[in-house]
Formats: sequence, C-alpha cells, structure tokens
Amino acid sequence: MGYEEVVMPPVRRRGRCSQFIIDNLLIIMMIVAVAIGVGMGMGLREHWAYYEKRKMHFLRFPGDLLMNMLKMMILPLVFSSIISALASLDIKKSGKMGIVAIIYYMSTTLIAVIIGIILVLSIRPGELGNSDLDRKGKEKTANPYDALMDLIRNCFPPNLIAACFEKQVTSATPTNFTISNATDDYVTRDVPKVGTGSGTNILGIIVFSIFLGIIIAKMGEKGKPLVDFFESFSLAIIKLVTLIIWYAPFGIMFLIAAKVIEMEDPAKTFTQLAYYMLTVLAGLAVHGFIVLPLIYFIVVRRNPYKFMYNMVKALTTALATASSSATLPITMNCLQENNHIDERVTKMMAPIGATINMDGTALYEAVASIFIAQYNNITLDVGQVIIISLTSTAAAIGAAGIPEAGLVTMTIVLTAVGLPVEDVTLILAIDWFLDRCRTSINVLGDSFGAGIVDRLVLGPRSNRNLDNGIMVSGIELEDTVAYKDNKAFQPDTKSKSMEKTAL
Ligand code: ASP
Repeated sequence: MGYEEVVMPPVRRRGRCSQFIIDNLLIIMMIVAVAIGVGMGMGLREHWAYYEKRKMHFLRFPGDLLMNMLKMMILPLVFSSIISALASLDIKKSGKMGIVAIIYYMSTTLIAVIIGIILVLSIRPGELGNSDLDRKGKEKTANPYDALMDLIRNCFPPNLIAACFEKQVTSATPTNFTISNATDDYVTRDVPKVGTGSGTNILGIIVFSIFLGIIIAKMGEKGKPLVDFFESFSLAIIKLVTLIIWYAPFGIMFLIAAKVIEMEDPAKTFTQLAYYMLTVLAGLAVHGFIVLPLIYFIVVRRNPYKFMYNMVKALTTALATASSSATLPITMNCLQENNHIDERVTKMMAPIGATINMDGTALYEAVASIFIAQYNNITLDVGQVIIISLTSTAAAIGAAGIPEAGLVTMTIVLTAVGLPVEDVTLILAIDWFLDRCRTSINVLGDSFGAGIVDRLVLGPRSNRNLDNGIMVSGIELEDTVAYKDNKAFQPDTKSKSMEKTAL
C-alpha cells in the first residue's frame, strides 16, 4: 500500500517529563479533592442541621457548575465523536468493532451478574442482620414490556432536536370499560399511552450518529466535507474538555462535601444495611479489580492496573457525579491522553459504553432483587434466578447513565419474578452511596472495553498503521504518540486523506 518506513526522531525528554507531572498532578488533585470533600462534609455536619438547606445549596454551587459543564459537553461530544469515528473508518473495521464491542458488553455484564448472584446466594444478606428495615422514599414502577418497547422506541426519536432534552415514556392508566349497556358490569384494563419524559435521549442520538457516520463513510469523496467538519468539531470539544478537567477537582470536592452533609443518620443506615452493602461492594470489587483486569490482560497482554491508574481521573469523577454520561468527557480524555487508545476507538466506544454498558448496575440489580427475596423469606428456584440474571442484564442496558437510574429499572427485574416492587424503598437509604461505587465500575468496564476493542480490531500497537498513513513498526506506543505530537514530522494532510480513502 506504499507505506513509508520512518526513523523515529528522538523523544524530547523534558516534554515527556513535564507531561508525566501534569497527568499525575491532576490524579493527585482528584484524590486529594475526594479526601478534603469527605473531611469538609464530616466537619460541617457537626454544625449544620439537616434543614439548613440554604447553606447546603451554597456549598453545592461549585459542584453544580462542574455537573453543568460536564453535561453541556455530552451532546456535542456524542454527535461529533461517533460520526467522525465511523466516517473515518472503513465499513469492515466498523463492523468488526461493533461485533467485538457487543460480545464484550454482553459477556462482561453477564459475568458481573453471575458474580453478584453467587455472592448474594452465599452471603445471604437478606437473612442476616436487622429484620426490620426502615423504608425511605417511594418506589417508581415500570412495566417490563413497556420499558423494553420504550428502549427500542427511543432508538428512533421522531424529532432529533426534541431528543436532546426528552425521551419517549409509556405510561399505563387502569381504566374501567362497560361490558354491555344492559348491565353495569365492567372490566378494568390498562390504557397505555406514549408520552414524553425529561432527560436526553442519548440512545436515539447514538443510533442516528452511527447511521449518519456509516453513510458518510460510504459517500467517499462527496462525504469528505462532513468528515472534516465533524473531525474538527470533535477536536474542538475535546480541547474544551481539557479545560474542564482542570476545574474538576474543585467541583468534585464540593459535590462530595454536600453529599456527606446530606446523609441522614448514616450510622444507622450503614449498620442496618451493612451485609447488603458489603455484598454489593464485594461483587463490584471482584469484578472491577480481578475479572475485568484479567480479561484485559489475557486479550491485550498489558498491565491492567497501569491502565486503571491512568483512568483515575474518570473513576473519581464517576464517584463524585454518580453519572456515566456526565463522566463521559473525562473518560474519553483519559482513554486518549493517558492510555493512548486510538481516537477512533475511543470516540466510538466511550459514548456507546457510557449509555449501554453497565456492569456495576447489572451486578447491583441482581444482588438487590435477591436480597429483597431473602428479606421476604421468598425462596427462588433456578428458573427465577436465571430470569433475574437475564432481566438484570437487560435492565442495566436500559438504565440511563444518570444518578440512581438503576433503581428505577430494577423494578423490571422485581416484576419479572413477582417480587414486591415497593420493597425497593428498603434499600433506598444506601443507594446514593452504592450508586457512586457502581458508576465507577461502569466507567471502568467501558474503559477496559475500549482497550480490548483497540487491540482486537486495530492489532498490536507495536505494528500499527497510524491514521496518518505511515507504517510504524517495532516501536513503543509512547514513541508513536511523541511522533504524532512532533509537528516537524507530521505528514501532509493530502497523503492522510488519500490513505483514509484507501482504508
Ligand atoms: N448511575 C449509574 C450510571 O450513571 C446508573 C445506575 O446504576 O443508576 O452509570
């Protein structure tokens, strides 16, 4: 294909060294921010009564700004990333990427569910500890069939602009119907109605972007202006995200402090639900620290813990925001900048992963449902356990990447096996905490997924055909990045576009 072999220029030591300090400085700042946030929250709890809402409102302000900044990036990032990634890949590679991604998402989510089920069946948290749990809040119910149909319906939003701020939601109202005019007999039937609910329909936007990206790729030369537009747009957004990342530690500190103050009677909650909490945490730990790293190691043959360390900024943000979607900009930044995942893979995998791949949520849904069964002395047979594992996987796919979304979709799992839906209120008190932990594992699963797809679809890094069309062989990735960053050695854009068409 006429690739040029290049002799690598010497890497500028000072640049790499200062880059190392900058990256680690941010990671340190994030960890310190979490610690200060917890400390500040604990300290202020002593002095602020729970009804001092105005003070808490002020305290949350810097954190709210961070949430807004991150959320502001989601839409432009999802649009431009997916379109530009697909438009610059050939159809074969996109197809392979899609297949590998689906296999990875489905298998890891199922593994997470199985880990959760094994743990909850062996620890039996519902039978241990307090038999009289406090209830909190009110459950939200969801009909499993409506929820499934809404999931599919939302893939095709009727209005793309409306999809940016609302989703389609089916609600059913029980209504009486008279059977005949002669008698007063009537029957009661649900009347389903498709309405709208607030929240971005990211799934719809992803589906639209995937199709548009593929079509642009197929258009060849005629699609080139659009490819350039979306590539440049996505680059600009990624640069904006870099700015937000410097503000993140400050915002995270206040988000965490406010959450610590808002906790109602944490000692009681933590003791009452201790076994349940420990079961979920143990499951998340096994999945996040053993299973996912092992899969990554087997496929990629690289140090998974170094990969995880490089994701710390995203994991801390997930912990602070409890939202995979809000963390998305930082996840992409860490994958590209720290783990050097190919930008086309990052742009494709990160937004889709943040929306549909939720290992932590699936594990938690399975544990929570079986916990509720144990608490009610309901014995589940093998068939019901299998239904729980399948519906937990589906419910996690359906859950949005926003705080406590898993709690709503869990009613699907409960309904499927006939468990009392209102018992969700038993575990609500601790959900804010578990939500943060499972969101971090969700983000970790997405990240390892990108690493694995990068390796399986684009091949070993040491033998990679960079998208600038130059074959680089037998060199370490860091060197290739240094090479890419070195302006003096950039190939001209003409050969780049020619190579892309050839791909
Ligand atoms: N908060 C989780 C996320 O954004 C979803 C959930 O489990 O509630 O990934």
